[in-house]
Amino acid sequence: MEAVRTYFRTIWRALSSIAIGMSVTIRHLLTPAVTVQYPDVKLKMPERARNRLYVNIDDCIGCDQCSLACPVDCITIETVKSTPDQDLGTTSTGHKKRLHVPLFDIDIAKCCYCGLCVYPCPTECIVMTDVYEFSEFDRHNLIYHFSSMSPDQIEAAQAKLKKAEEEAAAKKATAAAAAEAKQKSEQPKQG
Ligand code: SF4
Ligand code: SF4
Repeated sequence: MEAVRTYFRTIWRALSSIAIGMSVTIRHLLTPAVTVQYPDVKLKMPERARNRLYVNIDDCIGCDQCSLACPVDCITIETVKSTPDQDLGTTSTGHKKRLHVPLFDIDIAKCCYCGLCVYPCPTECIVMTDVYEFSEFDRHNLIYHFSSMSPDQIEAAQAKLKKAEEEAAAKKATAAAAAEAKQKSEQPKQG
């Protein structure tokens, strides 16, 4: 008799266990999904999400503030001074551009997405975008080059600056020599 009772108790437990499991399954079948079919469906990034950086080089004044703020030194900037006869224009924020920017690289493989480079930029030209898919097979492709200057343009800017500096130095030397000659001629003669 006891064996029969145990038999039916076991059947009851199995059936009730299945019923509990199925009730959970059915409840979730009727609940709206919280996941999306990535990559076919993508969630919209929050407004202040920090992902891939972008630099609008036309608005960059080469001030180096972003690079100095970077805790991992992943921004490399080189500049060449413009000469007085050159007008590099102004940024969209109204800042006068005085430096050529022949090199502006960001090694995004080192970037920790802290956003510290974004805040000090006076022209707001370095920004975090909502792009988060940029994996590469070759890590060298993770160094982004933002400068728009060609090698010829860089060479020309460097040559022009060198010439202007040499001319300024020669002018200074001539003025100094003239001042010295004048000083000597104005000295009272002895005897
Ligand atoms: S987000 Fe941070 S780590 Fe990345 S480049 Fe800017 S300052 Fe450097
Ligand atoms: S802080 Fe802005 S303007 Fe200055 S070098 Fe960086 S990106 Fe250019």
